[in-house]
Amino acid sequence: LNITADPARLCVHQVTLMAQCDFRQSVECLARNGITKTAVWREKLDATGVADAASILRDHGVEAVALCPGGLLTHRDPAGFHSALGDNRRWLDWAAAIGAKSLVTITGGLGENETDLRFARDRALEGLAMLVPPARAAGVRLALEPLHPMVCGNRSVISTLREANTWLDQLDADDVMGIAVDTYAVWWEPDLQREIARAGKRIIAFHVSDWLADTTDVRLDRGMPGDGLIDLPAIRRWAEAAGYRGPIEVEIFSQRDWWTRDPDVVVRTILDRYGRSF
Ligand code: ZN
Repeated sequence: LNITADPARLCVHQVTLMAQCDFRQSVECLARNGITKTAVWREKLDATGVADAASILRDHGVEAVALCPGGLLTHRDPAGFHSALGDNRRWLDWAAAIGAKSLVTITGGLGENETDLRFARDRALEGLAMLVPPARAAGVRLALEPLHPMVCGNRSVISTLREANTWLDQLDADDVMGIAVDTYAVWWEPDLQREIARAGKRIIAFHVSDWLADTTDVRLDRGMPGDGLIDLPAIRRWAEAAGYRGPIEVEIFSQRDWWTRDPDVVVRTILDRYGRSF
């Protein structure tokens, strides 16, 4: 399989234009550059309001493929845990209201003064199991996204696609649970090709950015595809060999570079790289 630049599959996450654009401006920028898919960032949606956001998307012919991020379920205290579950039920309804088919879900990291990683993992898995019925009711899938081990402490207590696959085996709810493969998070994983094949049809999101050799911040210094160390075409081919035919989603957090540039320049650079570097 060769990688292709089918314009209908290209998706640019709202977070890629996080610093420059509000909700409407980001959708306008994508639409005027011929991009028909985005993933909505919860903070932008909250600022605009769900009803207005839905009409902005509709008016510009831009589809929200997902809402990001949900989850954050590692609270030890029952009140915090139940409030997090309530937040997720609300986000599932928001996702449904803007036509998004999935809520990208991260586990959350360790709580304040917490060192019990095993507890945090068990808690997050427990929380995911409790979100299965509301996700089913909302008609929105939970796309579990493992993140890079450097953010284990504050964003995700699972770091590998292997763990995500094992959790989905345990949850046994593939009608409503899926996996988001973020190349930036799992590119280093020794058995990545095998775990992508194992995930198969569970892969419902495919996030792309690059790992800069001189990165200054593992969370907020992601690179433009083609500027770093990740063999993005190879990972995309593995996902497609596993059956993935969904959107190719550019998700760049870039405080020192791309967030400082004109949004049209960012989007035109993505278009230029698409089909070549990712
Ligand atoms: Zn991602």
